[in-house]
Amino acid sequence: MPALTEYFGQAVFNEEAMRQWLPEEAFAAYQRIVEEGQGPDSALAEAMANAMKDWALAHGATHFTHWFQPMTGVTAEKHDAFLAPLDGGAVMAEFSAKELIKGEPDASSFPSGGLRATFEARGYTAWDPTSYAFIKDGCLCIPSVFCAYSGEVLDEKTPLLRSMDFVEEQALRVLRLCGDTEAKRVIANLGPEQEYFLVDRALFEQRPDLRFAGRTLFGARPPKGQEMDDHYFGAMRPRVTAFMKELDEELWKLGVYARTEHNEAAPAQHELAPVFGTANVATDHNQLTMEVMKKVAERHGMVCLLHEKPFEGVNGSGKHNNWSLSTDSGKNIFKPGKKPAENKVFLLFLAAVIRAVDEYQEMLRITAASAGNDHRLGANEAPPAIVSMFLGDELTDILEAMEHGTAYVPYERVTMETGAHALPTFRKDTTDRNRTSPLAFTGNKFEFRMPGAAMSVASANTVLNTAVGEVLASFAEELEKTDGQEAIDSLIAKTYAAHKRIVFNGNSYTEEWKQEAARRGLANLTTTAQAVPHMLDEKNLLLFGRHGILTPAEMHSRCEILLENYCKVLNIEALTMVDMARQMIFPAVERYQTELCQGVLKRRQAGLPEAKAPALLADRLGNLADELWQGIERLEKALAESVSIADLSERALFFDKRVVSAMKDLRAAGDELEKITDHAYWPLPTYAQLLYSV
Ligand code: ADP
Ligand code: MG
Repeated sequence: MPALTEYFGQAVFNEEAMRQWLPEEAFAAYQRIVEEGQGPDSALAEAMANAMKDWALAHGATHFTHWFQPMTGVTAEKHDAFLAPLDGGAVMAEFSAKELIKGEPDASSFPSGGLRATFEARGYTAWDPTSYAFIKDGCLCIPSVFCAYSGEVLDEKTPLLRSMDFVEEQALRVLRLCGDTEAKRVIANLGPEQEYFLVDRALFEQRPDLRFAGRTLFGARPPKGQEMDDHYFGAMRPRVTAFMKELDEELWKLGVYARTEHNEAAPAQHELAPVFGTANVATDHNQLTMEVMKKVAERHGMVCLLHEKPFEGVNGSGKHNNWSLSTDSGKNIFKPGKKPAENKVFLLFLAAVIRAVDEYQEMLRITAASAGNDHRLGANEAPPAIVSMFLGDELTDILEAMEHGTAYVPYERVTMETGAHALPTFRKDTTDRNRTSPLAFTGNKFEFRMPGAAMSVASANTVLNTAVGEVLASFAEELEKTDGQEAIDSLIAKTYAAHKRIVFNGNSYTEEWKQEAARRGLANLTTTAQAVPHMLDEKNLLLFGRHGILTPAEMHSRCEILLENYCKVLNIEALTMVDMARQMIFPAVERYQTELCQGVLKRRQAGLPEAKAPALLADRLGNLADELWQGIERLEKALAESVSIADLSERALFFDKRVVSAMKDLRAAGDELEKITDHAYWPLPTYAQLLYSV
């Protein structure tokens, strides 16, 4: 294998490749549009199309596709060969500027939330020049946006790109008003940490729940879970090491800055963290990462589970969304510096985030809403469904002092003594970490911990950018009226005072916090069915409409897509449970019970003394099997009833209340049965087998 630096990005049409394959003036034009944040003209598109094609063919590609992100959470692609027939049966490779710029997939086959009917099928994909094209499986993939014939947005990328433009514009306004004359651009950055599970493929295949739902719908807890804390950062098993090595290599070829790989808290759980990049590219790369994880796992005889809660009673998987703003000169606006109390630009932007998170807490919550993630939020392993922010003591003290006009005594920077002479000393951070906060300030970025492992992070960042942009716009308006340092100070103090209810530095997992949050009037939208309809709250429609991110019609469509998806997922899970209970668990228990009873009978016939345990056990199995059977019927009845509810929000609430609880009851009976059934009869691989299989 050549050195990492040699093959990194070899499958990407990045600037290095452009420099080599584009005519000189076209490359200069490309650099100009990137610097200025503008779209390419037709001459550049023509040159790009040619260069991309030549480069792709030279790298063994035969096809091209517009690679886009419809509202399914995954990416979509439709491959076309670079091929045009010539006279005499020959072909030539062809790829025009038009093909680069625009594609026309059938829009009716993707979720549109009522925006598109089947007869209005036309949709367009359009090249996003801010994210490099790359080759995957012999196909040149062109990162693209996706919209309907009538212009409505049908994807994740368009609103994200718009929100990045918007926050940039507003941040620049505020920076200028604070005296910054240098910054030409402001970039929204993202580093999404990805958690996942690996399980053995052969075991996976034996479980319909894993195959159809991506999570276990039955399963008694194993005797050993994560209580020993021996998995987190633990040494990796050879099979996992081999997987990670290949995963890194594949991602590096695709230009993904995969950097940190380690075991997570639960057995069989792992994490990958990339080096952060612009929010748009990082989102594309996260989608690629998920796809490549699944593929590479398969090659190693494993399956990569991205579900938020594959195993009950075991930590689920999230996606930590690290977000920040920086300028084109590489300055991170959220870096407090050595004397944060004197860094007023930082404090002003911090105040903007505090207000944005407080005002749009429901929207942020919604970006983490899915049937899968409902199991995770609030389950003492991930933040609760209540959005709040952790600032740490130092920043809180600074803001408190500003609010009250009192003197602030700077924190002392302490040196950490390890107590052994040979070890280096290092400076201690002024605040400790808080792992329970939904949105923690972690030194120079905000870590939003609510999103689920299987989700696209596009919407979380769209909301962060838009909400923060909105507050920055209002700051700019205010500072345009009254400038000077005092105006900035009072804006920070005023904003903090009005929105500090969203700041919470304590343990967010506790019951006391829930009560305290209720007293503070913070939203606690515990499930997807309860959260998602808030998308249509007037303030949210206004926020997205006013800044041209999403129209009210597009917001409606998104709301519908999310609720529809929620109901469909639960419906599939419920049907899978019914089948498993009836066709696998019940017959297995029946057989075991029969064997026990026959044993009892044989003893009796042989005149041996009565053995109590087998009879008692058979009895207990019989009772639980009855419960299981009743549970199946109750769940089926609930599903039948759900069909008759026409209103989508109501149907979602019905699933939330009735279907989910019927599923829980059915599972309880199944899991009890598992605990007392002879292993030889049990038809499913157990948690112990699944979690310790790789
Ligand atoms: P932590 O241990 O605090 O989570 P890491 O340095 O491991 O810190 O970072 C976690 C993720 O945050 C990584 O993906 C990293 O690239 C990303 N990250 C670091 N700094 C920033 C930043 N300024 N903006 C956005 N993401 C960042
Ligand atoms: Mg982290």
